Formats: sequence, structure tokens, C-alpha cells
Amino acid sequence: FAVHLLASYLTKLKEDPIKKVDRFLYHMRLSDETLLEIMARFQAEMEKGLRKDTNPTAAVKMLPTFVRAIPDGSEHGEFLSLDLGGSKFRVSKVQVSEEGKHKVHMESQFYPVTGEITRGNGSQLFEYVADCLADFMEAKDLKQKELPLGFTFSFPYWQTKLDEGVLLSWTKKFKARGVQDTDVVSHLRRALQKHPDLHVDILALVSDTVGTMMTCAYDDPYCEVGVIIGTGSNACYMEDMSNIDLVEGDEGRMCINTEWGAFGDDGVLEDIRTEFDRELDLGSLHPGKQLFEKMISGLYLGELVRLILLKMTRAGLLFGGKASCALHTKDKIETRHVAAMEKYKEGLANTKEILTNLGLEPSEADCAAVQQVCTIVSFRSANLCAAALAAILTRLRENKKLVRLRTTVGVDGTLYKTHPQYPKRLHKVVRKLAPNCDVRFLLSESGSTKGAAMVTAVASRVQAQRKQ
Ligand code: BGC
Ligand code: MG
Repeated sequence: FAVHLLASYLTKLKEDPIKKVDRFLYHMRLSDETLLEIMARFQAEMEKGLRKDTNPTAAVKMLPTFVRAIPDGSEHGEFLSLDLGGSKFRVSKVQVSEEGKHKVHMESQFYPVTGEITRGNGSQLFEYVADCLADFMEAKDLKQKELPLGFTFSFPYWQTKLDEGVLLSWTKKFKARGVQDTDVVSHLRRALQKHPDLHVDILALVSDTVGTMMTCAYDDPYCEVGVIIGTGSNACYMEDMSNIDLVEGDEGRMCINTEWGAFGDDGVLEDIRTEFDRELDLGSLHPGKQLFEKMISGLYLGELVRLILLKMTRAGLLFGGKASCALHTKDKIETRHVAAMEKYKEGLANTKEILTNLGLEPSEADCAAVQQVCTIVSFRSANLCAAALAAILTRLRENKKLVRLRTTVGVDGTLYKTHPQYPKRLHKVVRKLAPNCDVRFLLSESGSTKGAAMVTAVASRVQAQRKQ
């Protein structure tokens, strides 16, 4: 018996680090059947969110955006754009189409947003936004101009018109007091009153997903979906008005901001969430909220990896069972580290360096194992995104009563843009799950910022027509 024990101990020691991780993270590796099941659940969620009687209890809110058409190319003018809620706060001047040319020109300035601002007083947050805008207009010599402004605000809010939105809840790293359940545009207008020398007209409140879709649609008229895989994650798409109970009218289409990040907040994903997802959620700023997003987006992937590595170390499966102070510290592993560790060539060397910087002493096998943990976590993220996106594409195809759908998806977000394998994995799984859709993925450069200008351009055209 003792010999048997020793033999099994020895084989365990020699065990392939990749297989060891695969076994440990068995529940994170989602089979095609599971993905199809998640896709079906998301299809049901969309239906639930769109219907008047079920919307109040729906986790996925399917918010009307009052954006009724993609750009038609006639948009033009000079606009201001604010982009708050992603990895950076950005103020821009966007010039759309100088006389007939299909062109967008942009000048931007990034401003820091500290935790003090995102988690402080709401009025201070909007005063800061207004101050940054004033600073920008001063620097760009725009103070004497009267400019329409589009506000990309990447949180869930309820809209009844284009220039109004009642914040349903904060997400990600934001938790400013006194904003929830109030109109975001009013907050900004009030803050701008302290700058009587500025003449800005806030015409549109825009989700980053919508901005991304609009920017891509400006270049590709087939684009009717926008996806963000960045700090947070979300998607929007063009829905038939006849399917939108919450807005009057049956003609044409309107863009719906799905807010898919909240998928699972009512418990429908409990069978696929793991102990790591639960632990991460408990330590987050909004426990119990955005459960799907917490399995996907850039704000969380690094922390998921850290929690897994810690558990494996405690189980004696990594680093000779010795953890470090940094490995015990929340958010010490970031998504950019995960991306660096998964790089094709430098990945292994990066892993060694990153782990060493965390005060660990990794062996070769440890490094290979940690790389595999990263791969499984980011693969799961891409798989889950793909399942929800395939559900949207299938819905679009069915809405149009087509056997095959040709469409374009606009994508933006730091995770998608900076992770070496992410786009390829996502595309592949989407095509597998939605085989009747010919999808083109279009990366949008600064889509959320430009898109706000695009939406504002359409709005100012309508406004001008009304004044005539
Ligand atoms: C927000 C969405 C946003 C997404 C991507 C989520 O946390 O709720 O409104 O589109 O992040 O920025
Ligand atoms: Mg963004």
C-alpha cells in the first residue's frame, strides 16, 4: 500500500502541468452543448426584457435608446463628445464629413478619473466632467462657438427620449452618490451652469455600445450590432419597433441596449458560475450585480486568475505551496497581465517575470500551469460573449425571416483590442454557434466617442428641420 501511495505521489509530481490545470478548472471549460444552452437562455432573456409585462422583473433590461437609424452618410458638422465609463474619460471635438467627404476627424484629450470622483458625490462627479469640458474648450479655442454635444455614458439608464436618461444603477468602478434614479443629462446641465461662458447644447445621451455600432455603420451599412468587451461588457442591436413593447409605434427599427452584463443576476447562470466567480462578486463594488459581466470583462479577469492561483497554491498545486503577500492582495493581477502571459512567443517569459514581480518563485512547470489558467479564464470569457452574441444574431435573422443573415458587428473595448487571442476565439465560436449568419467583425477605433458625434449629428439635423 505504501509503495502504491509513493508511486501515485511520484506520478502526481511529474504530472503534466496543463492537464493538472484542466482538471482543476473543469467547470470553467464550457462545452459546445453548454454554450448552446446559454445562448438559448439569453434568447429567452431578450424576449423577457422586451415585453411590457415581464420587463419589470427581467435581469436583462433591453433598454430603448431612441436611436432609430444607422448613419446614412449625410451627417456632417462639428460636435463635442464626452466619453465616460470606460477605461478612460475622454473629451473630444469630432468633425464629421467635411462637405461630401466620408470622413471623421477627431481631436481628444484624456482626463484622469480617480476613485474619489467615481465613488464620491454625484454632483462633484458632474462638476468635474464640466470642468474638463471647459478646460478642453479653452485649450482648443472653442469657447466662442456654439456646439452640440453627445454624451457617451456607459452605464444602464432608462431613456424616454434621446437627451434624457435615468440611471438604473452604477456598474464597474463607479458608485457616486445621488445619481441613481435621476436624469444624468440634468446633472450635466446643472454642472455646466457654473460655466456661463460655454455654449454647449447636450443633444444626445449615448451608450458606448451604440456609439460603436454607429461608428462602424458609418463605414459599413450592414452594421446593426455593437459590442463592447472592455472594462465592462455589453451589446446593442437594431430591433423591430413592433417587438419593442415599451415604446409606442410599430414602424421601423430602434437600437436596443441589451445591458447583457446583468444576465444571470436573477440566478439563471448559477449552474455555470464557479466558486471563484462567487468570491470575486463578494469582493466587488456591486455584489450580486452584473454577474455575466464579471465572468467576461477586463475589470475582472485578472482578479479571477488571482483567486484561482491562490486556491491552487493552497492546495499545493503551485509554487511548492508557497503563496506571496501580493498573491493574497486583491487586484494585484490585472487583465493586461493575463494578456501578456498569453502572448504567443514572449508569453512564457512574461509569465515568469510577472509571477516573480508578485514575489513568487515559479518553476518552469508553474509558469506553464499559470499560462493555462489564463487561457481557460479568457477563453471562457470569449465563449460566453460568443453565446450571447450568437443569440442576438439569431434573433436578427429571425426578425428578418431570413434563412441566412449577412451582417456586421462593430466591436470596441480594451480586452478585445489588446488580448492577443481574444478576437480570433470569439469569431470562431460565434460562427460555430450561429452557422446561418455570415458575420463580419469590424473593430471600431474610438467608436464610443465618434459614435456620440454621429448620433448627435442625426439629432441636430432633426432639430434643424423642426426649426424650419
Ligand atoms: C455597463 C454598460 C456598458 C458596458 C461597457 C457595463 O458595465 O452597464 O452600459 O455598455 O459596461 O462599457
Ligand atoms: Mg469605452
